[in-house]
Amino acid sequence: MSHLEMHQFICRSDNYGVLVHDHDTGTTVSIDAPDAAAIEAELKTRGWQLTHIFVTHHHEDHIAGIPALREQFGCQVYGPEREADKIPNIGKKLKGGDSFTIAGREVKVFDCPGHTKGHIAYHIPSEFSLFAADTLFSLGCGRVFEGTLAEMYNSVNQFRTLSPSTYVYCGHEYTEANARFAMSVEPGNRDLQKRVAEVTELRKEGKMTCPSTIAQELKTNPFLRCDSAEIRTRLDLAKASDAEVFAALRTAKDNFK
Ligand SMILES: [Zn+2]
Repeated sequence: MSHLEMHQFICRSDNYGVLVHDHDTGTTVSIDAPDAAAIEAELKTRGWQLTHIFVTHHHEDHIAGIPALREQFGCQVYGPEREADKIPNIGKKLKGGDSFTIAGREVKVFDCPGHTKGHIAYHIPSEFSLFAADTLFSLGCGRVFEGTLAEMYNSVNQFRTLSPSTYVYCGHEYTEANARFAMSVEPGNRDLQKRVAEVTELRKEGKMTCPSTIAQELKTNPFLRCDSAEIRTRLDLAKASDAEVFAALRTAKDNFK
């Protein structure tokens, strides 16, 4: 079996669109549906027919394209059970711990409460790919709108258990802004310094900075580095729990200019 092809693009200014395509069966999944016209254009260029939409959460910039895409392709819509009343056309309702098969590959579902109450992430182990949407970003994590900081801590940190070579596909190209915050709390981190230089270069050329990998995020993302002595010293939280450090980081990021 050949690998699934991942095609990532920017739409709506800073949202990531991702199409997952299987050449053998023609199965094509859109991860969320930020913008129907942009997704249709990417499909058309490749001659792909959309068969599925995997929805992560109910925010408008992740679901706006669902009705039009469903109308045009008759695709199946999978999404979080806890937000099914806020997302149009959900046919298959999912929750953490669920798994299902797409084009012969297993897909595992994670519950990720925090950004929204019912946010889920999709993991395709055979492709070493995690679709984390607005839970885990490169060098950052999603804002906590509906859940608690403690929930978000668990949602983000559960991804530590994935293979380090797992690609992290996220919902937005926020890496440059995240990098500024990360450098403010852990400026002595050499891996972070290297990543920031790389991100600055990529953005200067108008290129995407994602997907990154779990290994890279573990070395550079402050929200996965709550045990870092430098971060703890900067926050004056030497003896706090990792969850407390996470909460302080997320609050500081909300107020970071
Ligand atoms: Zn969102």
